[in-house]
Amino acid sequence: MENIFIVRCGETALKGQNKPYFERMLVQRIKKNLKDMDGVSVDRADGLIFVRTPQEIPQEDTLKRVGRVFGVDSISPAKEIEIKGMEAEEALTAVGKVAVDYMLEIIEERGIKTFKVEAKRADKTFPVESPQIGKIMGAKILKGCKVLRVDVHNPDCALYVNVRRDYAYVYEKKIAGFGGLPLGTNGRGMVLLSGGIDSPVAAFMMAHRGMYIEAVHFHSYPYTSERAWEKVRDLAGILTDYCGKIRIFSINLLPIQEQIVQNCPEDETTILVRRFMMRIAEQIAKREGDLMLITGESLGQVASQTAASLVVTDAAVSLPVMRPLIAMDKTEIMDRAREIGTFETSIQPFEDCCTVFLPKHPVTQPKLERIVESESRLDVEALVNAAVESAEISVITQRSDV
Ligand code: ATP
Ligand code: MG
Repeated sequence: MENIFIVRCGETALKGQNKPYFERMLVQRIKKNLKDMDGVSVDRADGLIFVRTPQEIPQEDTLKRVGRVFGVDSISPAKEIEIKGMEAEEALTAVGKVAVDYMLEIIEERGIKTFKVEAKRADKTFPVESPQIGKIMGAKILKGCKVLRVDVHNPDCALYVNVRRDYAYVYEKKIAGFGGLPLGTNGRGMVLLSGGIDSPVAAFMMAHRGMYIEAVHFHSYPYTSERAWEKVRDLAGILTDYCGKIRIFSINLLPIQEQIVQNCPEDETTILVRRFMMRIAEQIAKREGDLMLITGESLGQVASQTAASLVVTDAAVSLPVMRPLIAMDKTEIMDRAREIGTFETSIQPFEDCCTVFLPKHPVTQPKLERIVESESRLDVEALVNAAVESAEISVITQRSDV
């Protein structure tokens, strides 16, 4: 015996000629998320994906892991009935028997009183049409489960019956996935990953649109601690549940911060540091073939994220900078962080490199000419090159726990 799950693709099903490609990518991603489970199969048939797992693997584990694959709209644990070579009546009798047993199980578990049947004939050569299949199943369930009544508007349980060519499926709930697009369908981006709440959410949101993620992290060791770095690795580890393997390029920004503090106006420190971060990230991104930079910035959240500051930050680089959180409120971002599981780690109180040389009154309306003038006192190119060369790479592999 095995457990069977029906997986529905959401948006990926709408992609016209690209549909088979998106579905193949999705199957690959599901397989990858289940790869350390033995005896699992993942196949697609007419717009649905069927996942089969050995019975000893808890259903919850499979649901959780498949639910985290971007591109999955919903999942249902299902009962499968072989109807190959059967006449319609015989087939419906077989399906009805399973449907009644299934409903009895649900009554036992949850004491439901009302139900409805949603029937679908995916195989148009099956001689009984969908509404009629629904009626027949409804009658069989009423007969087999005396406590139940039909309620088409607000049933305690909606039972789905799907008749296909050789098999029929009976299932109940649809468990929502994250939707989005399968990883790898939209290239790769470089996220500037701090240990805060925002940047992991930004990475998640871009991965959700099919983008592989890698990360650059800046620290100011020894002003920032080993624990602060571990926190970043932990955050990346949580993200791998959704994004797969992540490489982190970690860079000590201290030499640059010291140069800025010694040579430039104090109130410009933050914006100058940010422009260096962008340049370093961009150089690595270009070398590694990443298409975009990604940050967790949100308009107006802090001085370095006013519209004027963002314009000056952007002017340091030529790659597009994606800011998926730009119009979100902090509370929304925090809710999202809780949903994906990064929040508790993000709020651990470790210092970030940005806080090390925080000016008392940072400029909120920087002028590009002034900032460029300040930078002319530094050897920007040499500093950036040295930082890029000093990058240490850590590979965070996909966690398999659920
Ligand atoms: P977060 O919660 O993501 O840390 P934040 O609200 O603290 O963001 P800032 O510290 O101004 O905001 O940082 C804005 C963005 O710059 C971050 O979302 C992140 O993308 C990037 N960033 C900041 N600090 C670092 C760092 N130490 N390493 C890499 N990127 C960073
Ligand atoms: Mg931060």
